[in-house]
Amino acid sequence: MIKTLLTRFEQGNKTSAYPVKPITLVEDYRGRPEINWNSTPELMHLCAESCPQDAIDEQKRCVDLGRCVFCGTCERVGEGRFINFTNDFELGVSARQQLLLDDELNQLSINSSQKIKKLFGRSLQLRQVSAGGCNACEADTNVLSTPFFDLARFGIDFVASPRHADGLLVTGPITVNMKTALLKTYEAIPDPKIVIASGACSISGGPFFGSNQLADPIETLLPVDLFIPGCPPHPLTTLHALLRFLGKI
Ligand code: SF4
Ligand code: SF4
Repeated sequence: MIKTLLTRFEQGNKTSAYPVKPITLVEDYRGRPEINWNSTPELMHLCAESCPQDAIDEQKRCVDLGRCVFCGTCERVGEGRFINFTNDFELGVSARQQLLLDDELNQLSINSSQKIKKLFGRSLQLRQVSAGGCNACEADTNVLSTPFFDLARFGIDFVASPRHADGLLVTGPITVNMKTALLKTYEAIPDPKIVIASGACSISGGPFFGSNQLADPIETLLPVDLFIPGCPPHPLTTLHALLRFLGKI
């Protein structure tokens, strides 16, 4: 027992001071992209052609962050002259449309409201459903419960039963086989409730887009309040989005 206490004392507090103190991620981390819309059509075409996700639309001049898997191919082939990824991890948005980055000033922003703050600001219990993902989104969501992130210190936690939940966090593409289970889980959560789409798969199908095994897009099935892009989203991206949504930062 004394040994355990000594070890604990030696280790000190391992929990991150975020959001009180900002965190800077490593330079190599790919977060919010900076897009140079003054690039030549040839350069844009080269990057669009290289994108495995068809996330770059040359005609509409937009990049779909909900479809992007942050693979970095466009940055590499264009040598960063068209798309250059920053290490800004604050990527969550309130509306799917906001993930379509075009050549107008496009802000990634999350709406918080007094109603949400009043309802869930002190306690938000989430039921997580993987509707068909690869498990990386789930793993990086799980990490939020470890001592470094310590999600519970903000009153946010994951629960096993939808009956005990205030909201649904969906990861993975909505597969045909999981559609009914997903909808039933949503129905089992008492009102008022929120829905969070986490990861490229849940937002757009991710690498599985176009598969005949996918059901309808999530926003046609459920009223999504928060979209968190990434493949998978960095735990800090999720943490930031949740705290901003709850009006805590
Ligand atoms: S980083 Fe995103 S936009 Fe660029 S090539 Fe990969 S998926 Fe496409
Ligand atoms: S978004 Fe990426 S990491 Fe998440 S489930 Fe889909 S493929 Fe896996």
